[in-house]
Amino acid sequence: MRILFSAPDTDWADYRELLPRALAEAGIEAELSREADPGTVDYIVYAPNDALRDFTPFIRARAVLSLWAGVERIVGNATLTQPLTRMVDAGLERGMVEYVTGHVLRHHLGMDAHILNPERAWHPSPPPLAADRPVTVLGLGALGRACAETLAGLGFPVTGWSRTPKEIQGLRCLSGEDGLTQALRDAQIVVTLLPLTPETENLLNATRLALPARGAALINPGRGPLIDDAALLAALDEGRIGHATLDVFRTEPLPADHPYWRHPQVTVTPHVASATRPGTAARVIVENIRRSEAGEPLLHLVDRARGY
Ligand code: NDP
Repeated sequence: MRILFSAPDTDWADYRELLPRALAEAGIEAELSREADPGTVDYIVYAPNDALRDFTPFIRARAVLSLWAGVERIVGNATLTQPLTRMVDAGLERGMVEYVTGHVLRHHLGMDAHILNPERAWHPSPPPLAADRPVTVLGLGALGRACAETLAGLGFPVTGWSRTPKEIQGLRCLSGEDGLTQALRDAQIVVTLLPLTPETENLLNATRLALPARGAALINPGRGPLIDDAALLAALDEGRIGHATLDVFRTEPLPADHPYWRHPQVTVTPHVASATRPGTAARVIVENIRRSEAGEPLLHLVDRARGY
């Protein structure tokens, strides 16, 4: 079996030994390489890169296995007819839970007032309890659900929003357009963990950014285009949104002259909210190859029509 590893150099450095080891542990004999005659390739392990844009010659390939959770850069590729899977990785999930929880607690506890306190002012205003701080998580997939459940476990009243209706113990789950309005209305902290699709692009526009409680915090580790940037900057300037912690942007790296860098109520983190952890992710890739070879359904299959 031949596996093409089509991903940037940094990924190759992470996986070149791990992936063959995981394949061997699963009893799969395979040759993993960065270049191969397309007609001989059985599987493509993929992360966005410029070298591979045309999947047409990969006539033998039984699946394209994404190392990334977000597949918006490949899902619309018309030459990609092979099944596409996305990454659901325990390490990626834990990292996201830690990022989101940390930034939620920063805003909940009002930490900035004490840390950024050049006048050494005495701020005797204890924060409310988590029970009095409604949090909304947009997206209840692998990552959103894990974050929502952790926040609920800390005592926050958590509302989650997804495309399809859900029932998850400890969460108020909403869906659909009306559900979105309800989910955002009066939220004090909003976390966006949606994939980027035609339906979610610019989801947080001026109208929807007006729904959370005045001064609410927005935390976006999902994708940059989920937010209408001009609308967010206006909402921040007017104090309707009190702070935005943004990890992902329309253009990455965020251009040096972007207003987000200078805005006092914006925290920019450089797409570090979480990352696929090679140790666990290699096993996810291998499990899907095993399933494919055994004729079992692939895990985390992307629905092209939905875009995620
Ligand atoms: P999933 O596909 O598991 O979950 C997506 C969630 O979004 C689902 O609950 C889905 O609803 C919901 N959703 C999708 N479209 C809509 C819509 N139109 N309306 C309402 N809800 C919708 O994705 P993950 O949780 O694994 O990842 C989420 C995103 O996080 C990724 O796509 C990626 O963009 C981002 N990410 C960011 C990272 C970072 O470091 N900043 C790292 C990894 C991922 P339903 O459940 O009904 O299908």
